[in-house]
Amino acid sequence: MAVKKVALACTVCGSRNYTISENNQRTERLEVKKFCKHCGKHTLHKETR
Ligand SMILES: [Zn+2]
Repeated sequence: MAVKKVALACTVCGSRNYTISENNQRTERLEVKKFCKHCGKHTLHKETR
């Protein structure tokens, strides 16, 4: 069974700072506040496909 990987990209600068593994069914898009080293602060990160 393959584990799906989802990248989280900063909505401010667009860098993909985090990769998470996803193993359950999910329909809504993930939005998480995480630290972006490029922006130097916490920004909203969204999943990319
Ligand atoms: Zn950023």
